[in-house]
Amino acid sequence: MFADVIVDINNVEVDKIFEYSFSDCDIKIGSRVAVPFGQKIIEGVVIGVKEVSKFDPEKIRPIHRLLEKTPALTEETLSLMEYVCKTCYVTRAAALRLFLPSEMRKGKVKEQFNRIVSYIDGLDVNVAVTTLRKTAIKQKELLYYLAENKKCNFTVLAERFGASAVNGLVEKGYAIITTEKRIRSPYKGIDAQNKNVELTEKQKKAVNSVVNSDKSVSLLFGVTGSGKTEVYLNLINRAIEKGKSAIMLVPEISLTPQMLKQLRARFGDNAAILHSGLSAGERFDEWWRLRNGEAKIAIGARSAIFAPLENVGIIIIDEEHDGSYTSESAPRYSTVEVAKYRAEYCGAKLVLGSATPSVESYKYALDGVYNLIELPDRINKKPLPEVEIADMRKEVRRGNNTPFSSVLKTELENCLSKGNQAIIFLNQRGYSKTVICTECGHVQKCDSCDVSLTYHKEDESLLCHYCGAKYKMITACTECGSPFIRYGGTGTERVVDELKKLFPSARILRMDRDTTQSKEGHFKILNKFSAREADILVGTQMIAKGHDFPFVTLVGILDADMSLHFSDYRSGERTFQLLTQVAGRSGRAEQSGKVVLQTYSPDNPVLRYAINYDYENFFKQEISIRKATAFPPFTDVVRILISSEDDDRALSATKAIYEELSYIYNEQREKFRFFGCMKAPLKRLQNKFRYQVLMRINANDRELLDKVFISVDKYKNRTVLISMEVNSNNLT
Ligand code: ADP
Ligand code: ZN
Ligand code: ZN
Repeated sequence: MFADVIVDINNVEVDKIFEYSFSDCDIKIGSRVAVPFGQKIIEGVVIGVKEVSKFDPEKIRPIHRLLEKTPALTEETLSLMEYVCKTCYVTRAAALRLFLPSEMRKGKVKEQFNRIVSYIDGLDVNVAVTTLRKTAIKQKELLYYLAENKKCNFTVLAERFGASAVNGLVEKGYAIITTEKRIRSPYKGIDAQNKNVELTEKQKKAVNSVVNSDKSVSLLFGVTGSGKTEVYLNLINRAIEKGKSAIMLVPEISLTPQMLKQLRARFGDNAAILHSGLSAGERFDEWWRLRNGEAKIAIGARSAIFAPLENVGIIIIDEEHDGSYTSESAPRYSTVEVAKYRAEYCGAKLVLGSATPSVESYKYALDGVYNLIELPDRINKKPLPEVEIADMRKEVRRGNNTPFSSVLKTELENCLSKGNQAIIFLNQRGYSKTVICTECGHVQKCDSCDVSLTYHKEDESLLCHYCGAKYKMITACTECGSPFIRYGGTGTERVVDELKKLFPSARILRMDRDTTQSKEGHFKILNKFSAREADILVGTQMIAKGHDFPFVTLVGILDADMSLHFSDYRSGERTFQLLTQVAGRSGRAEQSGKVVLQTYSPDNPVLRYAINYDYENFFKQEISIRKATAFPPFTDVVRILISSEDDDRALSATKAIYEELSYIYNEQREKFRFFGCMKAPLKRLQNKFRYQVLMRINANDRELLDKVFISVDKYKNRTVLISMEVNSNNLT
């Protein structure tokens, strides 16, 4: 027999299918195998099996060995892999890696087994004990212990009675040792929470609408607190009852514990979790539980869309608008698009849930491409928290140069004096965004990037937030030697410092990338705040979503403009989403909540819509801007990013690419809304000079995209990196 194999080398030159021969009948489509490749043995996946080969059978080398008995991939996941290759322009090997836990490749993690000692059924302990030597005290004790407990872990017994006692009993035939697969469970410390609720009429309608719609995609547009989660759980339940499996995606791992608690309560071991916060062993075991069908519900961040499930009945993407669903490194896939393909493939329903749908999704829903379901009311009928705008221009004029407006200060005092909790949101970590010399105006920059450095007071360092480079904090300007340094732009560290000055007795927690480095960092901080061991939580967008803290009655948004002024076409949308999400953290239980939103542009329409929770009008404005300016969803934004450590080479590659693409442009001008070539907004990153060719073309023109890709791909080489991004979230 012959097998078509993809080898695990991510290189365009070997992005081919290689043939090997085999006789092992356990080798099937989807099996992982070790194959000879040149002088080496490497891993690969079988994607096809056949009886005859086009090649001379003498020249075909045999498969070295089968890596696992159960094929890691299925027909479905293989088809999904082909889809990713085609739409993300990556090698098959790169696409394959999405489908296998990284620890499985190269055999880094293996299954673990426990040795179990069992008592022999029906053995009379009083008879057996007389046959033991008088001096074998440990064996006797063990015999009685086993007679009572029947079954026990070898290691536990060996610790207590000594390994020789255990082995002695086994030799005499009074006990047997068996092995059991050991599951490394990621659920330690997660207690099941069960609230068994009766669905409201609206929720029931939503569930039925998903199930009965003739459209495969439903958009569940429901305000925060409208009970979307119950709808998801119900839909999953239905799928499971029909013998199908389910995938549930959430945007960030900090969100997973809450969702997981509910899923565990409802579905027990039937739910498996896949995310990067798990240890390698845990992830490996969870993956296999799904693959073996022991667990039928996969829950995780975006990569869980590649879960090794069969017969998927429902896919749910919670907070579908979230930026984390688009991968920012190759393969640059859009989770929603992959989910659509997967749902189509297995006849499953796809539910996109959000309180602030992406502009694209809402347009498709209005156009009737998606089934639109609305949950406009909160379950507890509580109004959304009242939002007050603080005009920071006035504060500055009044001489207030703290990060807090006077309204926010007063509200904080109120909140704390009542024993309630507050959340302060600021999307900037570190102490200050920049450090500037007051003499010469010099801004400290990263050596390898065209980026200013952020001051981190905790370890007296200057950090590049783009490449991660760390420098010692300066004591004098590196240009003119002046010791007078000014801090520009406030970060979370500084906010905590200032809060301590204002409220010396308040207990403050900070949650940002720096305080959540450790595996369970997120959970620790959230649990502490949830247990009311702190009064104020200061954080970046990590705190914006999903968390439900009943005693939070105040949310302060320190710089609502921060994301407005990015040059990205999505900045208005992102700002609206973020503000709505953050505001939703306030007043979730009995007490009503308040939000103070600080801004330097209080008349900005996006902020106005956000404080009134007016999604519809925000959407109307946004979609008309997109239409007028020819941005997605009316076009696709395509960027070819060219970068190299050698500026000349980057530039000449850029020119060549631009010239070649110009032919396509001139031929099919009607398909282009924009075509240009320039330095990237971030001109240098990690020592690489960056240029870009930017295009806006008619939406969903796969043929044109393929053409562009083929023209560009050949310019890749060892010194010049080229990537093609379609509707990327990050155009820096
Ligand atoms: P969303 O995901 O839309 O923000 P949730 O699903 O978190 O909303 O629901 C908000 C709150 O309402 C939760 O505390 C949830 O337990 C509760 N809830 C949801 N559905 C019901 C119901 N049918 N009956 C009673 N409480 C419900
Ligand atoms: Zn200076
Ligand atoms: Zn840098």
